[in-house]
Amino acid sequence: MMLALYIYRRYVALCGILMTFVLYAMLLTAYHMATPRFVLDPEMNGIKHASSFSLRKVSDMLAGRKYAVLTFDDGPYGHGLDEQILATLQKHHAHAVFFLVCSHINNDTRGELAKFESAGDVIGNHTYDHPNLAQLSQPDIRNQIESCNQRIADVTGKRPNYFRPPFGSTTPAITTVVKSLGMQQVLWNANSEDSWVKQPEQMMYFSLTQTEDQSILLMHETPLTAAVLDDMLTQLEQRGFQFVLPDQLSDNTAIN
Ligand SMILES: [Zn+2]
Repeated sequence: MMLALYIYRRYVALCGILMTFVLYAMLLTAYHMATPRFVLDPEMNGIKHASSFSLRKVSDMLAGRKYAVLTFDDGPYGHGLDEQILATLQKHHAHAVFFLVCSHINNDTRGELAKFESAGDVIGNHTYDHPNLAQLSQPDIRNQIESCNQRIADVTGKRPNYFRPPFGSTTPAITTVVKSLGMQQVLWNANSEDSWVKQPEQMMYFSLTQTEDQSILLMHETPLTAAVLDDMLTQLEQRGFQFVLPDQLSDNTAIN
């Protein structure tokens, strides 16, 4: 009887050690794996894992790792603000999608597009001059998006893959046009509210409370955002966030 109890205790202890070891090995392996790949999740307006690699997910959960996409609308801003945002992103090893309003691309700001690209960031289309597309006819919707694609291509040599409608205002007609142009529509499910808040702590509050794992965070290229960004990314990192880009469609030849 005593012997059986002794063996049982040893068995339990061994199992415990073994499980701890396996868990540790899993964590360690996943830590050294490259950042997982993500794709857009149109249902959630966020991102989802490109593949269901469960070891990575378990490891992320155990380690409290989270992923978010940073997006900046309404640029290029000029006056050094785009560079300020880029420098902060670089400091945090973060990449972002910049949804540009093409009427903002002029002789003073066209140079910013090359800076976004060489920093590894992504340029998206945010219409030619920021109308509410829901109020436009289908040909006008198409023209707003296509003329902006053309403008960006004239400057960078590449048409953008991503489109974000102004005010997040989208309809089935808009979605149809976006798809017919071979593009992906990107909305958001976390809002920094930086289009209307005036105080840094307000923007910080909304960004930190709304950003969850696999969120897309909406921000704008504004002086407030540029000033808050460094602190905000630091606090999100302390909560386990890494900032990633979703995979883009491999080609958009449908446009040509
Ligand atoms: Zn906008």
